[in-house]
Amino acid sequence: MTHAPLRLTLDGDALVANWRWLDARSGAAACGAAVKADGYGLGAAEVTRRLAEAGCRDFFVATWAEAEEILPLLAEGASLSILHGVAEEDLAQAAGSRARPVLNTPRQVARWKEAAPGRPCDLMIDTGIGRLGLSPGEAGSGLLDGLVVDTVMSHLACADEDRAMNAAQRDAFAAAAGTLRARRLSLANSAGICLGRDYAFGLTRPGLALYGGVPRREAEGHVRQVARVEAQVVQRKRLPAGATVGYNATFTAAAACDIAILNIGYADGYLRGFSGRGSALHGEAVLPVAGRVSMDLTAVLADAAPGLREGDWVELVYDLPAASAQSGLSQYELLTTLGRRHARTWR
Ligand SMILES: *Cc1c(COP(=O)(O)O)cnc(C)c1O
Repeated sequence: MTHAPLRLTLDGDALVANWRWLDARSGAAACGAAVKADGYGLGAAEVTRRLAEAGCRDFFVATWAEAEEILPLLAEGASLSILHGVAEEDLAQAAGSRARPVLNTPRQVARWKEAAPGRPCDLMIDTGIGRLGLSPGEAGSGLLDGLVVDTVMSHLACADEDRAMNAAQRDAFAAAAGTLRARRLSLANSAGICLGRDYAFGLTRPGLALYGGVPRREAEGHVRQVARVEAQVVQRKRLPAGATVGYNATFTAAAACDIAILNIGYADGYLRGFSGRGSALHGEAVLPVAGRVSMDLTAVLADAAPGLREGDWVELVYDLPAASAQSGLSQYELLTTLGRRHARTWR
């Protein structure tokens, strides 16, 4: 087998523990899982299998292409919702599927009524995010007559902040959904779950916090890191005072120092926001990134790890809140950009 030069180690126990915490925070509401974008980059099939085994019954993906991988993993009675709804091109797959489209537009509603009469669907109501969904007016206009609606949803725009808009969206959702016939209601993403039980309704839809993201202070100390990134030292060298490191020579050694060149770069999802700001760990030693991250290589200062040699492994600091603060990237981007050169191992 060829040697995989980067490691992405995924903690299945942490994933399940995060789901259990979100489930408990959701009170009487069921707690689902957003596994779109390949499980936020970690592997949708592996994530789904583990969460289904832990008792999760409701899964969310963006597209019908993503549904294909997930459906065979789901037991009877488990449910899968397709957040982008149903396009004309999806009908052949969708009309006979046990997954449900989340209908977002009047055209999608008409399409589903005609192509799959009597088959259950979900609905998205736009209560202010200004993204997908029917307006409350459209939803209340008789457009939905004849649909069999399983779950009515809306999505919060700023649940990760303390804003009056959160309660306004919650109340607008309750009012709009109150006029509709549906099995259950769903509003909260990860941050929404942190806002409290009155945001949970009948079903919650966390994504980020499952994977180790901390969307709000309420989740601090409860959400565990799931993904760990390790890279290998390709070269270690001594730099004299005044030497520079990397493209555009943005780092200059104030005094003689050691650097280690790691085999990870922005092509692996270790993006340029970590330039001069990220760090790696070798045992107890913290090794700050020196200069620009390049495509496949990153330099770190190595004086703190005198024993670190060519071929040794180091862990990049990829605790999501910390890495987000270092890089200026969102916790979502940090997960979804992780590259394909990593060997993924679940443990
Ligand atoms: C992605 C998504 C979620 C999950 O959001 P997180 O912030 O990752 O918890 C929930 N609902 C909808 C509609 C989404 O698109």
